[in-house]
Amino acid sequence: MSIKVSSVTKNYQAQKALNNVSFEVNNGQIIGFLGPNGAGKSTMMKILTGFITPNEGKVFIDDVDVLKNPLEAQKTIGYLPEHNPLYSDMYVREYLQFQASIYRVDKSNIEACLEKVGLVAEAHKKINQLSKGYQQRVGLAAAILHNPSVLILDEPTTGLDPNQLVEIRALIKELGKDKTVLFSTHIMQEVEAVCDRVIIIKKGELIIDKNLLELQKNNQQIIKVIFNLEVEESQIKTLKNLVVSENIANNTWQLTFNSEEDMRSKIFDFAQENAFKVLELSSENKTLESLFTELTL
Ligand code: ADP
Repeated sequence: MSIKVSSVTKNYQAQKALNNVSFEVNNGQIIGFLGPNGAGKSTMMKILTGFITPNEGKVFIDDVDVLKNPLEAQKTIGYLPEHNPLYSDMYVREYLQFQASIYRVDKSNIEACLEKVGLVAEAHKKINQLSKGYQQRVGLAAAILHNPSVLILDEPTTGLDPNQLVEIRALIKELGKDKTVLFSTHIMQEVEAVCDRVIIIKKGELIIDKNLLELQKNNQQIIKVIFNLEVEESQIKTLKNLVVSENIANNTWQLTFNSEEDMRSKIFDFAQENAFKVLELSSENKTLESLFTELTL
């Protein structure tokens, strides 16, 4: 269930789509592969699945060198490409049988896959009679037919309505119980709902690779405080872990800290030590959404 990407660079003529990207996944995590449009997510996924080759770098899936041995690597990878290409005139079960025969997979898996993705009741229908959410399930069923240990899903929730979104996210979480899942999205809430780990790329470069908890913990604290009298900026600056200070009104400050400690109690200590009082204090944690916007702008 491992993925190893080492110094991957991909150019499309003059356009650099990926620049020296490296990361490793060694356990069955669900990883959100996040970045704005054009960041290089699809390009990385096509390289991981052996559909295109990078200009530089190496990629291993379960210790198989994808560049040297793509067919071998593909046996352990399930891939749902962007826009989920399906034969929409086929019946669901018929489509899966067709996929199984192309990829020489045992057809006895089909019923179990239909069950896993919640498609048993729809299996007799034509794909074009299904909603977009159910069509995604067909794509997911096709991706897991050969029981891969790694799933690569390229924007699996794009274009779904809110109910379908929730269902497909739950399904990805379920599939992630016994597989490593790398899925791309540009929605931060999705990452918060589903992932253990977040990799963010921007303009082809990896800028964040962190566990979700770590990322949430590292969030900056923004504290608005009103003191009973005017406080000099030089005094404010003696506060530890202070990143930005802004004097909003006479006695009111907005203070941004980068700290794992709760800085509210430190502000009370600071006031007491300097003989002023805190009249009002409110704090907010920076949401992952705003962090993402800040990082990728
Ligand atoms: P994302 O999936 O994050 O939206 P992509 O990997 O699709 O990003 O694209 C990364 C960059 O590479 C973009 O600037 C895109 O225009 C460019 N690109 C992608 N595919 C091709 C291609 N076949 N030929 C030329 N440029 C491409």
